[in-house]
Amino acid sequence: MPIRLNLILPPGEHSKVVWESNQELRIGRIGGRPDLQVALDVNSVSRFQAVIRPTENGYCVIDQGSTNGSWLNGVRLTPMEEYPIHLFDLIQFGDAGFSVTRLNDEQSNPLGEPTWDRWRDPNSMIRTFSGKESAFRKLQLFAVACCRQVGDRLNPETQRILDECECRIDQIVDLRGSRLAELVTNLDSRLRRVLSDRSPYSMAHAAARLVEKSVSADLLREVFFDPWAEQPPNVDPNWLAWNNQTVPKLARTIYEDRRFDLMPILADALEDAMCNDSALVGHCRQEAQHFRGCWALDAILEADPSTGELRFGFSVSY
Ligand SMILES: [Zn+2]
Repeated sequence: MPIRLNLILPPGEHSKVVWESNQELRIGRIGGRPDLQVALDVNSVSRFQAVIRPTENGYCVIDQGSTNGSWLNGVRLTPMEEYPIHLFDLIQFGDAGFSVTRLNDEQSNPLGEPTWDRWRDPNSMIRTFSGKESAFRKLQLFAVACCRQVGDRLNPETQRILDECECRIDQIVDLRGSRLAELVTNLDSRLRRVLSDRSPYSMAHAAARLVEKSVSADLLREVFFDPWAEQPPNVDPNWLAWNNQTVPKLARTIYEDRRFDLMPILADALEDAMCNDSALVGHCRQEAQHFRGCWALDAILEADPSTGELRFGFSVSY
């Protein structure tokens, strides 16, 4: 079975490696071994990173003792051990990612299988953003969204503190560490422990444990657009300009006033503005709850030049 490796290079560049050989595929950094089949121009990839090798039943990946590790569906590989790879698996070498698709799937599924939709393990999903500072804001907003799920009904004081945490997360441009600890001293101890964590990654992992796996996986999908998608959401300036900037005005109101109940109206406005991005419209219209960090809102706010001071460094590429 020839496989196609869909290579996703930071920052969001894409290329494809079609590999039909029954020989092993050696992967490393440009300037590494002379016999590499795939030489990546990515510093975080080692000179000889990994090998993908045919086996009796398919293929396997073997990390070659790389500095930053190789990951299969979010799990770090033990060097020199064989790990079978399957269709739709995600393989990560440093900052370079591959998704595995089959050659004959290209026709029916030219963009590759959107595996992000089907991931169920929040920890693997969070690990996808390992080492990416651009994901810090969203990881922390995800943590707050998880905290909002705890308990039947948040008391007004908890609500207020979580609101304040979100504002703080958006105000900190350099999110190297969380600085929420001082805000959360009056919170329930479970939530306080999560939000006091200085690392956005461990905060996100701890937050994911507060709720059912399926709930946190869905919340990660609310916040992060599919990181394996070939195209990040692309907001057309014409949609933003339409009807005296109805779309960005509405998006700002929803964000600032947390009027997430207006998201379906935003979907209608996008369609009226001739938006043809079905993922964007579909996300706005979905029944699931939205939160600060919602990728669709972020995409609109990030693209809107008039967002001005409210542009907290929204990022849809990570
Ligand atoms: Zn959303």
